[in-house]
Amino acid sequence: MNPWQGGGSAFLKKAEEIAKDVLAAEAPRIDRDATWPEKGLRTLLSEGFGGLVVPRQYGGKGQGLLMLARVCEILSKECPSTGICFGMHCVATSVMSVNATDAQRENFLNPICEGKHITSLSLSELGTGIHFYLPQTSLTAVSPDCYSLTGSKVFVTNGAHADSYVVSAVAGDRGAPAGQFSCVVIPNNSEGLTWGKPWDGIGMRGNSSRTMTLQDVRIPRANLLGREGDQIWYIFNVITPFFLVAMAATYLGVSDSALNEARMHVMRRQHVHTGGLSGAPVIQHRFGKLWGMLDRTRRLVYGAAASFDNGDPDALISIMASKAEVADSAVEIVNESMTLTGGRGYSEGSKLSRHLRDVRAVHLMSPTTDLLRTWIGRSLLGVPLLAD
Ligand SMILES: Cc1cc2nc3c(=O)[nH]c(=O)nc-3n(C[C@H](O)[C@H](O)[C@H](O)COP(=O)(O)OP(=O)(O)OC[C@H]3O[C@@H](n4cnc5c(N)ncnc54)[C@H](O)[C@@H]3O)c2cc1C
Repeated sequence: MNPWQGGGSAFLKKAEEIAKDVLAAEAPRIDRDATWPEKGLRTLLSEGFGGLVVPRQYGGKGQGLLMLARVCEILSKECPSTGICFGMHCVATSVMSVNATDAQRENFLNPICEGKHITSLSLSELGTGIHFYLPQTSLTAVSPDCYSLTGSKVFVTNGAHADSYVVSAVAGDRGAPAGQFSCVVIPNNSEGLTWGKPWDGIGMRGNSSRTMTLQDVRIPRANLLGREGDQIWYIFNVITPFFLVAMAATYLGVSDSALNEARMHVMRRQHVHTGGLSGAPVIQHRFGKLWGMLDRTRRLVYGAAASFDNGDPDALISIMASKAEVADSAVEIVNESMTLTGGRGYSEGSKLSRHLRDVRAVHLMSPTTDLLRTWIGRSLLGVPLLAD
């Protein structure tokens, strides 16, 4: 059966098949060699996931944040690098889709929906760190139909492997107010675009989160997304919700998998003097606590994502809170799962050893936990979110 005709549960079943049949086998090698998860991503694309969040009228699957969350979680149980690479593709496709022109549909969204084009999001810069809404990369109109971009981006997931990148830049004054920047699509084969050395993170090693240098990169004006300088709207209506939900769901997947590893160990483990480890009350109690944390944070993410899909005007604050809560709980769940799994989990090459390294990225991927809590506080106190 074509899963795309079978409704939401059929999509999820297909994602689970891909996670089990492709990602599970690939993940140890991806982590060991820090290779970009090409096989998993190409399989997702060939099975129709490329246009997951692209509106149906543009040839996509027309899915929202809840489906994105569920798919990223499923993928990340086996390979969080694939989860986040796919997630960033979806964030970038959502930015492209909002106000897509005919030319942008033809050049980018059609091949994305046909599974022939991978894209990614390129916002972060060394100079402004976690403040991704303050790009310093310059966008200069060199003729009525051509822009030139110069600058440098850091931690670009899918770096050097995607077919295009949604890149933020400022036209004119680099000190423009926060959020007053533009986003353009830069094809990977653009002249003047070069890549730094391969990504060598302690975790998320398949991400290919590389540095991108743009030296007088010329792109057609037709690649401008929306209008010049209007991205503050995109930050809070598209980029932040999609980015946060994709990341939160990725680390929900890591937490779920870690807890399952611990459960399998404890259910199998027998001691000669006391019998099954699962009989120890303190172990039972710890599982009860960890499962509650996982269930609570999953419900927060899914609930916030569903609110956004239903047009709730307060959904963004719930999405921000859910990612911050997932970040705290994911680090604790994985850490505790490692303890519960004893020496076996602590062995080099174990799935838990990967999860322990992968999960630490959750706090530092922007909007970081600190930034999110500050934004939530500002929102409650009536202070502008981008006050600094
Ligand atoms: C695996 C991975 C994948 C990524 N993928 C992408 C991607 O696809 N696209 C993209 O654009 N970016 C991406 N990033 C970048 C990411 O979103 C962050 O922007 C980046 O990691 C920030 O790093 P930094 O070292 O500059 O942090 P810094 O700015 O140096 O911050 C360091 C710490 O200080 C805190 N901090 C910073 N400023 C303040 C302040 N004013 N007040 C209080 N605390 C503060 C931060 O919360 C953080 O904990 C990725 C990063 C990683 C690690």
